[in-house]
Amino acid sequence: MKPKVAFFDFTSCEGCQLTVVDSLQTHLDLLNAVEIVNFREAISERGEDYAVAFIEGSITRASDEARLKKIREQAAVLVALGACAHTGGVNAIKNLSPLDDVRKYVYGDKADWYETYPARPISAVVPVDAFIPGCPIDREEFIRVVKALLMGKKPPIPDYPMCVECKLKENVCMFDKGGFCLGPVTRAGCGAICPTYNDGCEGCRGPIPNPNQDAMKDVLQKHGLTVDLVMSRMTMFNAFDASQIVK
Ligand code: SF4
Ligand code: SF4
Ligand code: SF4
Repeated sequence: MKPKVAFFDFTSCEGCQLTVVDSLQTHLDLLNAVEIVNFREAISERGEDYAVAFIEGSITRASDEARLKKIREQAAVLVALGACAHTGGVNAIKNLSPLDDVRKYVYGDKADWYETYPARPISAVVPVDAFIPGCPIDREEFIRVVKALLMGKKPPIPDYPMCVECKLKENVCMFDKGGFCLGPVTRAGCGAICPTYNDGCEGCRGPIPNPNQDAMKDVLQKHGLTVDLVMSRMTMFNAFDASQIVK
């Protein structure tokens, strides 16, 4: 029997689900190995019997929690799909301002019509078994993670910094070009795509575990930059827990 898989979305742009659809078009072997029973963006069926659930999006209102907990009860394996679900992503930027101000800015005099609370990653509400980082996720990494999960293996998500991939590509460092980059504290796995195309990493894959804070501070000092700047840049995708990255 094929494993039953479901995809669900909370607050997101749905770009990670689109990336899944894109990935599966070129990996028909994987598509044939599972039975997708719930995937609003791709199929009409709404099956409630599944073993693996992929969750896209952040939790941004109290009523999301009951829905997520119900999915967690059903799924043997629950996977955070993309930065919104994994770290809170761009949705958590709103947490940096008073909630009432944000609501009025977005909804004006209709602010009371819409339920909302500070955005959070799904791991703040339920236990998460695996995550696929990035905004959006990487197509090939999605395939590797699903294959690993189906084989009962640990998903192959790198736990070393972006700089490793960047050096292997022989890129000139953004700092040496007078730019800025969060590569030293950001999880590798995207092929250092932003520095490769002359743009600093903004940390969409989230921080590495135990980032070398002293090394980051040394790099910043060498280039006349400050920890405050790192904090302000890290908040694009990691506002929910930015304070844990460089103290
Ligand atoms: S992580 Fe990025 S691409 Fe994925 S749903 Fe969130 S905003 Fe969209
Ligand atoms: S450009 Fe960024 S990722 Fe590349 S080596 Fe420099 S700091 Fe590291
Ligand atoms: S280089 Fe950084 S910002 Fe760019 S895709 Fe990779 S993790 Fe995201």
